[in-house]
Amino acid sequence: MNATDEWYEVSRLTENGYRITEANDYGMFLVEGDERAVLVDAGAGVGELHSVVTDLVDTPITLVLTHTHWDHIGAASQFDDVLVSPLELPPDGRIRVDSLSGEFVERPTQFTNRWVDAGKELPNDFDPSEHAIEPTDADPLPADGRIDLGDRSLEVIELPGHSPGHVGLLDSATDTLYGGDVIHFDHNLYVMFEDCDLEAYADSIARLKDLRDDGAFEVLATSHNEPLSGDDLDIVDDLLEGLHEIAADGREYEIVETDWGEARSYEIGDSDVLTKTTI
Ligand SMILES: [Zn+2]
Repeated sequence: MNATDEWYEVSRLTENGYRITEANDYGMFLVEGDERAVLVDAGAGVGELHSVVTDLVDTPITLVLTHTHWDHIGAASQFDDVLVSPLELPPDGRIRVDSLSGEFVERPTQFTNRWVDAGKELPNDFDPSEHAIEPTDADPLPADGRIDLGDRSLEVIELPGHSPGHVGLLDSATDTLYGGDVIHFDHNLYVMFEDCDLEAYADSIARLKDLRDDGAFEVLATSHNEPLSGDDLDIVDDLLEGLHEIAADGREYEIVETDWGEARSYEIGDSDVLTKTTI
């Protein structure tokens, strides 16, 4: 095994799905069907993700991006078949690090330079100062909201707010919702960027609550924490209540400094929701 292979950690999540993490933080998921597999997101793009996932399954792989923030599209250019919400697909059909806005252009090298400063081991042939995310061709998600895996399909669940075209993928066979950045447990949840929409985010959390209450999923597998289940899913109720209070201007916040300037930080349940300073 070479250094690049070791960059990604792979574990079984469900009977037909794997969790793949990059640098202990950037989570991706490979969901198998009998004719096709779906890779959910492409991480920060530091390693050879394509060879890692093609070793795991025998079928063709479609990469589905929950959204186009830099840490979800990193290795997308290694894949031929890439799907994304039409709301995040530029007119020329090529996604790039500034597909949404210019806020993430410096981000790939900022992060890798921090990894170097922290003494983190990077793949041998990787030059952190040169890290760039390659633009790549993508197609819009199917209009019927279904991605066919052969023996079953995944349902596209629109969950905008953190970004305009943010989606989750529901696998009813395993009661698992692959949720991208819809929730960050014990992390900052950013709703402060130019393209974020706090009202749409609250609606998405309401949708998540309805799906959970209807028993549509029991596991919420998101990008920046361990998959959530059981009592941890109470965070959905906390967030919905907190977001309603924010909308009614009745929730306390602190002003914090972030890499993108000042933000309001609302402590809600096990998450800190960061918004613009004026909302
Ligand atoms: Zn994001």
